[in-house]
Amino acid sequence: MELLRRKILEEGKGIGDDIVKADMFLNHRIDTELLFAMGEAWAEEFRGEKPELVLTVESSGIALAVAAAHALGDIPVVFAKKSASIVQNEETVQTPVYSFTHKTQNLIRIEKKYLPEGARVLIVDDFLADGQAAHGLMDLCRQRQAKVVGIGIAIEKGFEPGGRQLRESGVHLKSLAIVDGIRDGKIILRADDD
Ligand code: 5GP
Repeated sequence: MELLRRKILEEGKGIGDDIVKADMFLNHRIDTELLFAMGEAWAEEFRGEKPELVLTVESSGIALAVAAAHALGDIPVVFAKKSASIVQNEETVQTPVYSFTHKTQNLIRIEKKYLPEGARVLIVDDFLADGQAAHGLMDLCRQRQAKVVGIGIAIEKGFEPGGRQLRESGVHLKSLAIVDGIRDGKIILRADDD
């Protein structure tokens, strides 16, 4: 997606050889023109899958999920909450997720009533690296027998295995930009396939 690619190149920062900072337009300050354009791009990609809700994890995924859900005809957004402690509760489903950026293990949880059995779910998130967050959200759907009809990602780190593994397992995955590496602070983008 051209607008996102431009933002990454002009306003993104490469930290070390594996972290992409997108605070200027995605993770701290949000560029709303870009946000709603990304929502439209995911809606175009996934409309045919007939998602009934958009699922993400707090906090950076929420705005993206709202943009996608609005573009898909104002379907609901559900976001998994993060908690450090194990809260066993019959009303919730939960699963552990290792956080790449914070180097901590979180438990993510959703109240069952917000993720109905059999629902058709589109997962949306800001970054895809190792795939831990995506697999955690897919696991919550599996526990609720909800169907993951696709995964929409803003920035995939193509040098991490998450995206390749999801595609190989047959998941309908759409990343709006793919970073192939970071060299001397410069972000290298994969050529757009659109
Ligand atoms: P994964 O679970 O796929 O390993 O990592 C995805 C999650 O980690 C995303 O939800 C995102 O919050 C965070 N993340 C992973 N890599 C990066 C990165 O390079 N930059 C930022 N800002 N977040 C990242």
